[in-house]
Amino acid sequence: MSLLQVQGLKAYYKTEMYGISRTVRAVDDVSLELRPNEIYGVAGESSCGKTTLIKVISGTVKPPLKVHGGSVEYQFKSGKVDILKVSGEELQKNVRWKEISYVMQGSMSVLNPVRKVIKTFEDIITTHEGIRNRGEFLSRIKEHVKLLGLPPDVLNSYPHELSGGMRQRVAIALATVFNPSLIIADEPTTALDVVVQRGVLQLLKEIQGASRNTVLLVTHDMAVHANVADRVAIMYAGRIVEEAPTEIIFRRPSHPYTSHLIDSLPVIGDKSVKNALKGSPPNLANPPQGCRFHPRCPRAIDICGTQIPGMRDLGGGHRTACHRVSEEKTTKEGRP
Ligand code: SF4
Repeated sequence: MSLLQVQGLKAYYKTEMYGISRTVRAVDDVSLELRPNEIYGVAGESSCGKTTLIKVISGTVKPPLKVHGGSVEYQFKSGKVDILKVSGEELQKNVRWKEISYVMQGSMSVLNPVRKVIKTFEDIITTHEGIRNRGEFLSRIKEHVKLLGLPPDVLNSYPHELSGGMRQRVAIALATVFNPSLIIADEPTTALDVVVQRGVLQLLKEIQGASRNTVLLVTHDMAVHANVADRVAIMYAGRIVEEAPTEIIFRRPSHPYTSHLIDSLPVIGDKSVKNALKGSPPNLANPPQGCRFHPRCPRAIDICGTQIPGMRDLGGGHRTACHRVSEEKTTKEGRP
């Protein structure tokens, strides 16, 4: 059973300037499935479509972004929801925070700088459930922050009185107060130093393990995926180019772009020079024909410049979109 099914999703930005219209194909034919009780990572460099994918999945599509095809359907405990068709009122009342919540980069986007943390909890709970008994509300919130290992006095603090790591922990506490089915964590540790980052990731993992909900973890940082994700999808230029259980992605990547991302990771004691990819990511208003990675791919062959590689199932939940994988039989190691 799946929590979320995304099929053939196409989401484009359409802009018009000085009479010239432009279509940026930010998400182009993406299909994926999120299962209950897993941490699903989405990786890829900036402008690969990760943020646009989150916007559509969370039902926050606003012009100039428009969905041009595909479906995004949830199977919540409370019932089925087609996020592309659900009304704004229903989304606000029954889906946001209660079924889908967010932990974003820089917790200040969710915390009000002039209100104490307890007031932000109050605002969110009042909007979605109402507060009938203040005593009950306070003990519920105190218990919740205690379970997350936060000191109780955090509730009476203003955001600026807390460290970056503590603010991000509070953001996680807010995102989990209704025990949602899906937590979308968008670059949750990017602004934090390595030690604090580890604590925040550990917290996210512990909460997911205890609540058995699903976390969609979106970050360019492959080391973060290696540490917490159960499965990882790699995005390049608006498409998923590879998806597999985390161990397979790191031990046996089959797509040349995934191999590049993994080979770029720093290794203690390794002083070898890392090879950069030639060129830069494509302009999604005018993406290359065929495989979008072909102008930069060290393994490109003629067909790569003319035909889009289809997604190929390699077994064991591993799928990849690369002509070389179908052309040369996948070896036991998985690399073409
Ligand atoms: Fe490289 Fe061709 Fe595979 Fe694309 S399809 S990743 S260009 S080998």
